[in-house]
Amino acid sequence: MSTIDEVIAAGRAQPGNREPDAGKTEPVIYCDRLVRIFKVSGVEVQALQGLDLSVGAGELTALVGASGSGKSTLLNILAALDLPTGGQARVAGHDLLTMRGAERVAYWRHTVGFLWQQTGRNLFAHLTAAENVALPMRLAGLARAQRRRRIAEVLDMLGVADCAGKRLAQLSGGQQQRVAVGVAIANQPSVLLADEPTGELDDQAAADVFAALRTANSETGATILIVTHDSSVSEHVNRTIAIRDGRISSEVLRGTETGADGSAAQVAVQYAALDRAGRLQLPPDYVEALDLRERVRLGLEPDHVTLWPGQVRGSGDGRQLPGSDGQP
Ligand code: ADP
Ligand code: MG
Repeated sequence: MSTIDEVIAAGRAQPGNREPDAGKTEPVIYCDRLVRIFKVSGVEVQALQGLDLSVGAGELTALVGASGSGKSTLLNILAALDLPTGGQARVAGHDLLTMRGAERVAYWRHTVGFLWQQTGRNLFAHLTAAENVALPMRLAGLARAQRRRRIAEVLDMLGVADCAGKRLAQLSGGQQQRVAVGVAIANQPSVLLADEPTGELDDQAAADVFAALRTANSETGATILIVTHDSSVSEHVNRTIAIRDGRISSEVLRGTETGADGSAAQVAVQYAALDRAGRLQLPPDYVEALDLRERVRLGLEPDHVTLWPGQVRGSGDGRQLPGSDGQP
């Protein structure tokens, strides 16, 4: 686990809502005001409503959100399986809006690895674990000896070396998904996208899969984005981004902080996403805790902004009036 200062200094404190600064390393995953509108029998569904996202090289990030918030829509776009209605999306230097043909095939083969919720979409049931991991390498034209070495390396790294000769039916759900992580990283992609990889698993198996993804991240340096509604994922990643109504709403960064006595403590810092227009969404628990409604009162301090409930104490009729004493 990195220190909180490292996590924040790595620029992860800023949800991507602007062009990457000149001179800085380009984020591996970059979305700018991404919009995806689906039309179903004449009715429009706005699945993504101007989503900004920036993920740096080698980050292990979780994207969490309620059902229908747009997680799979985003992942399908990042996987180059769907096109956005508007906005920009780039992954590892590829422009996802203009990418076609041979570039897209190379993107699927070498740049990104996928992990889906249903094992049937990740693995072939009639092949063994080792044969499944070999398949993407065969498609990429890797020699047999290299394939064999990589299969052993990958299955061992993910704690499923004993599964090499077994077929799907002989493996537990958690083992299947860990083998699937192996398939996804076989060709050493720079990005791994996982959509609800633990959706069909119990708590222990889910923890094993998250741990395998963490290992894949630290051992291969791949940038990993895990989409999930399983909040236990936050124990396994440094950065958890929340998506609400097709937009990034907030994120939590975790790391260790060393006290004056040298003791290390886990700390989590919460951030709200701020878009170009200055819009931010407060987390629902903050809104409820202070019964914030309709509008809030703002104050600008030299290095921070204050925010109070907009209702004036004792106004009785619930009307919101400005304070006259300069105090909340
Ligand atoms: P999540 O993965 O967070 O549960 P989705 O991205 O699947 O959410 O869906 C976001 C919204 O877009 C939902 O309202 C969903 O019904 C709608 N949606 C997703 N895919 C399609 C589609 N192919 N056609 C029509 N509506 C869709
Ligand atoms: Mg989904």
